Amino acid sequence: MTNRTETAVKKRVAIIGAGPSGLAQLRAFQSAAAKGAEIPEIVCFEKQANWGGLWNYTWRTGLDEHGEPVHGSMYRYLWSNGPKEGLEFADYSFEEHFGKQIASYPPRAVLFDYIQGRVEKAGVRDWIRFCTPVRFVKYDEASGKFTVTAHDLKKDSMYDEVFDNVIVCSGHFSTPNVPEYPGFAQFGGRVLHAHDFRDAMEFNGKDILILGSSYSAEDIGSQCWKYGAKSITVAYRNAPMGFNWPDNWKEVPALVRVDETTAYFSDGTSKKVDAIILCTGYKHHFPYLPDDLRLKTANRLAAADLYKGVAWVHNPKLFYVGMQDQWFTFNMFDAQAWWVRDAIMGRIEIPKDKAVLLADVARRVAEEDAGADAHDAIHYQGDYVKELIAETDYPSFDVDGACEAFFEWKEHKKKGIMTFRDNAYRSVITGTMAPVHHTPWKDALEDSMEAYLKN
Ligand code: FAD
Ligand code: NAP
Repeated sequence: MTNRTETAVKKRVAIIGAGPSGLAQLRAFQSAAAKGAEIPEIVCFEKQANWGGLWNYTWRTGLDEHGEPVHGSMYRYLWSNGPKEGLEFADYSFEEHFGKQIASYPPRAVLFDYIQGRVEKAGVRDWIRFCTPVRFVKYDEASGKFTVTAHDLKKDSMYDEVFDNVIVCSGHFSTPNVPEYPGFAQFGGRVLHAHDFRDAMEFNGKDILILGSSYSAEDIGSQCWKYGAKSITVAYRNAPMGFNWPDNWKEVPALVRVDETTAYFSDGTSKKVDAIILCTGYKHHFPYLPDDLRLKTANRLAAADLYKGVAWVHNPKLFYVGMQDQWFTFNMFDAQAWWVRDAIMGRIEIPKDKAVLLADVARRVAEEDAGADAHDAIHYQGDYVKELIAETDYPSFDVDGACEAFFEWKEHKKKGIMTFRDNAYRSVITGTMAPVHHTPWKDALEDSMEAYLKN
């Protein structure tokens, strides 16, 4: 299976990152090898000491033990915010991994275990160089190859290696977008970004102000509520989330300024608060890529400059996996990874004419923009997943069924934002109905795998 010892004439492929996207890419190549295909030599560079990307929890914030920016943005007590039936791997079901069907909104540790199970079974850990951030990637027109500069943090030594293809799988929910508001420097409490939020217990008994109106705002606010915050005030910039919030939760229009103790909003109201949590999103950030290779895109479903959502239009030997905003996650990364594998292995031809690549991107952007609402967006991304898997041997699955799980999920959130995780859905991979979890989410204070899986 592994092929490092084989001759230099083999193509060499670098994968940057061993989170869910990078692991999907490793599994894609390994599955081709398992079917007897000759695959390129694969080297996966991972800056952390373990795989799993964001799902590899760390208590650290700021810099890690090597002085590298901490990648992790996840926190204790994080449970999946969408049903697992929308993200299940088509080649490795939850039932295969856990030996039984499990409830629909697993905590982080359970999903980490599931992600890990598939790649342990595939036996690809040896392909990964851990504690090895990529520092730079350079393309040489003359040789048609990339030079990757990597830093072995354990030896503290940097080295260059040459590759035919590079696949960027370094994620885009790690580098925080941190706005400044008047008075932050004078505010007496803590101001932190969601990226640095780790434990809702810290805010027990406190009055919290959250900025933002997307998933982090909703979920970090819900965590703080669950673990005993005194009040939650969420200031939205454009539109409120509009859920039926608990009594001690209020949505208010945009923050204007703060002083030492109090936040002032654009409707003239104010609120004394103890801490401010900026749930203001993340930046696509690739400090190791030069201008000619670096993706610059908004966080949207049709990312800029990527043919088929993965091939860099300005040099299609370079690929990006997982750079879209995400309804679908793990199974979309799979669809992309299988497609990228086949493009690299010559099974799929990427058009030579750059105008064709650009037209593909423009069409995707226009189709996303034509959508009216979240329902259209879910269908749009589902159709994208279907389009890619139709072109590879990734096991086809009922993508429309997964979209239905998302639609049900959205209805359940409307009915009860603190109870939606108490619902169960049917697997589109095995057809089995998930059990209802043994404890309502709001009462389940322990987030361990053991607690979740007990009957
Ligand atoms: P990441 O998980 O970010 O992994 C990228 C990897 O690249 C990391 O291991 C990192 O160390 C490595 N890396 C970065 N830079 C370098 C470098 N220079 N050199 C080498 N390695 C590098 N999705 C869901 O489906 N369900 C959820 O419930 C859910 N919850 C989420 C909660 C939060 C708070 C956040 C921020 C995201 C959540 N997501 C969720 C979405 C998440 O983006 C995906 O699930 C998934 O982690 C994306 O995988 P990825 O591999 O693309 O990126
Ligand atoms: P996001 O979806 O990109 O949303 C960013 C939010 O920040 C938007 O509401 C935006 O407002 C707001 N914002 C940006 N700049 C601002 C400013 N200067 N002032 C005020 N508001 C500003 O990012 P996210 O919510 O962090 O979600 C990122 C990913 O993490 C998602 O994939 C999500 O699913 C995932 N996540 C999952 C969980 C979970 O599973 N439990 C928990 C948290 C996050 P506008 O809308 O006005 O632009």
